[in-house]
Amino acid sequence: MSWFRERRRRNLREAPVPHEWQDIVARNVPHCRYLDALEQEMLWGDIRIFLAEKYWEGCGGLTLSDEIRITVAAQACLLTLCLPEKFYPNVRTILVYPAAYRVRTRRVGPAGVVTEGRSHRVGEAWQHGSVVLSWQDARAGAANPRDGENLVFHEFAHQLDMLDGTPDGTPPLPDEDAYRRWYEVMRDEYDHLVRAVQHGTRTLLDPYGTQDAAELFAVATEVFFERPRALRKRHLALFELLRDYYRQDPAQRVDRHPAGETDEDQADAHHQMEGM
Ligand SMILES: [Zn+2]
Repeated sequence: MSWFRERRRRNLREAPVPHEWQDIVARNVPHCRYLDALEQEMLWGDIRIFLAEKYWEGCGGLTLSDEIRITVAAQACLLTLCLPEKFYPNVRTILVYPAAYRVRTRRVGPAGVVTEGRSHRVGEAWQHGSVVLSWQDARAGAANPRDGENLVFHEFAHQLDMLDGTPDGTPPLPDEDAYRRWYEVMRDEYDHLVRAVQHGTRTLLDPYGTQDAAELFAVATEVFFERPRALRKRHLALFELLRDYYRQDPAQRVDRHPAGETDEDQADAHHQMEGM
């Protein structure tokens, strides 16, 4: 890293955080309330750098606001909070549309471009250059931490996956043992999810994860940060795998927080009612 960039990043980290920005994160990124003071400080530094180093563009008539940029940045930076490699070096541009746009397929093109679309959430993760998001879906995914669905976590998990050049559901890992463990746990989870979907069983992980290993990692990341205690309870091996990869434990954060228990209990009650 150049001396100039290092100095610029240090200055960004030291800049004060406007109150309005803190309000936006409190409102739109509920998991951040569980972070301790040191983690909060680190996250805000990361957010500042992320905001400054990416090119942001509103598309389809959308005018970008602080609310949009900070909501997206806070979630993207939460994923990498404890990772050695931060700021998604492959992502140069973040394009935001007002709502879902017309993409209805998922395919991996020759340049590693992954395009996908669903009726309720639509985004794109490009291997070199861009993340495309629907603001309506990004905001809805962030504001409801109990549904285990989060478009920004999903798309940026794809970016972590692709740091090694391939969208194969495995991000760069430290050694061979880590890769072996990753394949075993993910293979078991994939088989489990496919069987559950075939039997029409309600699952904690989005059935979309049956598409392939890349989608499984993305939907697992959504649940890891939105429903960490439920994931720990029902998919312990997967939870521990992601905890070791992300180097943070969202379930323990919720355990320690006074509001945490109520939140997850309500989520479980809601989940059970929906399944009836
Ligand atoms: Zn995806």
